[in-house]
Amino acid sequence: MGRAATATINLAAFRENYRLAKSVAPQQKAVAIIKADAYGHGAVKLALALEDEADAFGVACIEEALELREAGIGKPILLLEGFFTADELPIISDNNFWCAVHSLEQIDIIAQARLAQPIDIWLKMDSGMHRLGVLPKDYRHAFARLKHIKQVNNIVLMSHFASADDFSSAVTAQQVSCFDDISRELNAPVSIANSAATLGHENARRDFQRPGIMLYGATPFDAPHPLANQLKTVMTLTSEVIAIRDLEPGDGIGYSHHHVCDVPTKVGTVAIGYADGYPRHAKDGTPVIVNGQRTHIIGRVSMDMLTVDLTHINGAKVGSKVELWGENLPAVEVACYCDTVAYTLFTGITRRVHKKYIDSF
Ligand SMILES: *Cc1c(COP(=O)(O)O)cnc(C)c1O
Repeated sequence: MGRAATATINLAAFRENYRLAKSVAPQQKAVAIIKADAYGHGAVKLALALEDEADAFGVACIEEALELREAGIGKPILLLEGFFTADELPIISDNNFWCAVHSLEQIDIIAQARLAQPIDIWLKMDSGMHRLGVLPKDYRHAFARLKHIKQVNNIVLMSHFASADDFSSAVTAQQVSCFDDISRELNAPVSIANSAATLGHENARRDFQRPGIMLYGATPFDAPHPLANQLKTVMTLTSEVIAIRDLEPGDGIGYSHHHVCDVPTKVGTVAIGYADGYPRHAKDGTPVIVNGQRTHIIGRVSMDMLTVDLTHINGAKVGSKVELWGENLPAVEVACYCDTVAYTLFTGITRRVHKKYIDSF
């Protein structure tokens, strides 16, 4: 019933991808990163599907963490950006959240807090990303201070990579050595690997991996990679052809007549647009699958619709199924045509898109 735009989300594939993240370092732990509503897939549903297996979950902020606790998730939940205001600390303590600390000011605030239970801290070092984290020169001191604060329980040493997806970059090795030089003297567990490092940088696999995008089946790399090739598609975004017309050379399509036909063209109008999260800046030629056959977008994506070339598609009719990305068309490939990454495609999916959860292959 109703408009067909649907994101079908495969929970079995999500679990398989988590198992792949674990399999590269089976003795170590993996925090399943499900921030931003599990990269647009629905955090509560995915967390429930992984609750039996996950070592822990990771989110960006306390609002996201509380949503999971309220849904019955009992596993540890890591706040990747830590706390923003002091009044979060008692909630962090009461809910047993793990909390990143990225600045010396935050340590002062913890020292002054009155908490029922001490909290687990993930002390973040800025090893070269230059976004968040205690500077290397202050890191030992920060660790020593936390050790002496009675509101602090366990401490994990953490950092984050800027370029782990790029094997030609020297930055990852520099970050690892910067981090190791300081952290090897401190007796505490370590976490530095995101998806790209989990899959591609053996020497970055430490006590806790932090896989995100790979859990959703998207490779972090530009080129084929033996482990990334094993990832399973989680989200398949589909809709339907709702109208068809035959256009003549010289006829323009859609807003601004962005595309003008140079040959006789059969055009299909598909019920999905940028208000569903399909990027407006998708270029002419961005691939789509209609009726199981590959074709492409022509004309500008509008709010609720987009137009595709059906000239060479067999059996296309009103009601034909259209796959925008997923099982038969990697989101990573679509992202290239939109000058973006799969992360933004997934997180951009809006409320209007029906979500359908399946749990088998
Ligand atoms: C988002 C995030 C991750 C996961 O990154 P992916 O590239 O999606 O694997 C890991 N660590 C931190 C601190 C993050 O913010």
